[in-house]
Amino acid sequence: MPNHSQTHLNPRSPLVLDTRELPRRPGAMRTVSRVAPAPADLGLELIGVPEGADLVLELRMESVSEGVLVSGSVTGPVTGECGRCLRPISDSVAVTIQELYAYEHSATDETTDEDEVGRLQGDLIDLEPVLRDAVVLALPTNPLCRDDCPGLCTECGMPWDELPADHSHQQVDPRWAALTQLSRKEE
Ligand SMILES: [Zn+2]
Ligand SMILES: [Zn+2]
Repeated sequence: MPNHSQTHLNPRSPLVLDTRELPRRPGAMRTVSRVAPAPADLGLELIGVPEGADLVLELRMESVSEGVLVSGSVTGPVTGECGRCLRPISDSVAVTIQELYAYEHSATDETTDEDEVGRLQGDLIDLEPVLRDAVVLALPTNPLCRDDCPGLCTECGMPWDELPADHSHQQVDPRWAALTQLSRKEE
């Protein structure tokens, strides 16, 4: 039998919730408002929350018969790179979380897998896995600086947004140019 009570969570870690103040009586509720530094690698290859940036947690913990239901929102800044023009992006991400954490040795604990339903570890809840999943899901796999970003000029590799409107690499042969002029006059 796995020993769930062996906890390795640090109750003072900002992404760990301590339920000791929450009575184990269905309906009891506590709110948690805090700012936590973002853990490393919170995001995708091109975009994510910078490590140590402020994550604003507005959560509530609610006692239910088999455990604690955690719900609420987490918001934080994101930085990244536009997938088309490679220029830096700064934005923000807001996710909502709703997750049940079962008490150790509750019926839910005994009858479900840990990847189906979260677990309390003693009185503590590790928020990081759920937070990580929610943030990663909310981020675009192909981030853009704006929806209609025109990307890069394929000839010189400069972002179109930083080039003049008449930017062109077309080598106009002067003889053709003269002919064009002539035909225009004839019209
Ligand atoms: Zn762009
Ligand atoms: Zn160019």
